[in-house]
Amino acid sequence: MPAPATEAAGVAAPAVGPAAAPVPSAAIEMRAAVLREPGRPVAVERVLLAPPRRGEVLVRVAAAGVCHSDLHLADGQLGGGRWPMVLGHEGAGVVEAVGEDVVDVVPGDHVAFCFVPSCGACAACRGGRRTLCETAALHGVAGMLMDGTSRLRGSDGGVLQHGLMVACFAEYAVVPVAGAVALPASIPLWQAALLGCGVVTGIGAVNRAGVRVGDRVCVIGCGGVGLQVIAGARLAGAGTVVAVDTDVAKLELARRRGATHAVLAGSGADVVVSEVLAVTDGGVEHAFEVVGSPVTIRQAWDVLRPGGTATVVGLAPVGVEVSLPAIEFLAEKTITGSYYGSSDVHAALGRLVALVADGRLDLGDVVSDLIGLDEVEAALQRLRSGQGARSVVVIDEALAGVGA
Ligand SMILES: [Zn+2]
Ligand SMILES: [Zn+2]
Repeated sequence: MPAPATEAAGVAAPAVGPAAAPVPSAAIEMRAAVLREPGRPVAVERVLLAPPRRGEVLVRVAAAGVCHSDLHLADGQLGGGRWPMVLGHEGAGVVEAVGEDVVDVVPGDHVAFCFVPSCGACAACRGGRRTLCETAALHGVAGMLMDGTSRLRGSDGGVLQHGLMVACFAEYAVVPVAGAVALPASIPLWQAALLGCGVVTGIGAVNRAGVRVGDRVCVIGCGGVGLQVIAGARLAGAGTVVAVDTDVAKLELARRRGATHAVLAGSGADVVVSEVLAVTDGGVEHAFEVVGSPVTIRQAWDVLRPGGTATVVGLAPVGVEVSLPAIEFLAEKTITGSYYGSSDVHAALGRLVALVADGRLDLGDVVSDLIGLDEVEAALQRLRSGQGARSVVVIDEALAGVGA
């Protein structure tokens, strides 16, 4: 290998070649999909992104998934007052530059975004529940990075918030280093984009629930996350896996991912419950609710056999309440929640990536639409109407590996 030019000229070579890429000294002007306020279509604007500070990284975004949480934000069911905002929290790209004190990644690394960049120091982190990090929650709710400030400005100079501390419906993103998980370059980035939300959330929920070999499982809601729950249940060795959805196409995808039965919802909540009870010989050990509505949360409870556990993964808008027949607690039924896979996301992604490499977990099969940045609003509209599984915004086709 030829010596770097700097060495030949008698100047000490940098310790790590790519890490020496300079941090941009000025803000980058870029395209980003901005939510100005709920009810107004999300539209692409030219915005400014300031350089990464200490402990932060600048990532060139390759691709980003459109998730139900983006829809909740766009519709104002989440993030009260948290706009204007650059949306997007599930994505992948390549590290472009790193701020001071960053050692975990170097420029050129492929990374998936993680929207809970746990601080490692709060009570939740110290207690081993890193997805419940209190510092990340505090600043994430405010639409800021971990130091409580934003790197994003609109062309009018006004502050823009970082959607779930990622803001990856954009050409670049600055995130805390804990929000960028290094990946092997062998995974195409348009597929890796799904890892940091849908995949880790869905498969992590199965781990948290403790599904065992042979268990009967019901998954209510087979969108981008529900399909990952089904994949997780199959990997965990579940026996009967019943998929429930209002969309025939999603049920077909669910079958391909390992669901043994499909129940088409829409003809009444009671009908869904009785059909699930019929095909599972009286109920399931584990039900997963991946919609976030009181009706489906109640269904998840009602399809349990005695001793069963319902795990709510779906994100219900603030203010939604659920009622349950309390007498059934005597049947030792459990209802709980799972947020973002309930584990250490960096460790979880390492394990999932190994499964992808072994061919035991397909990432791309849930992608129903590959779209451009200008089409985010159309993708949100598909989510509103329950159509399609996952839309992936391809920001940079070559970087994303589309068609490779
Ligand atoms: Zn998400
Ligand atoms: Zn923490």
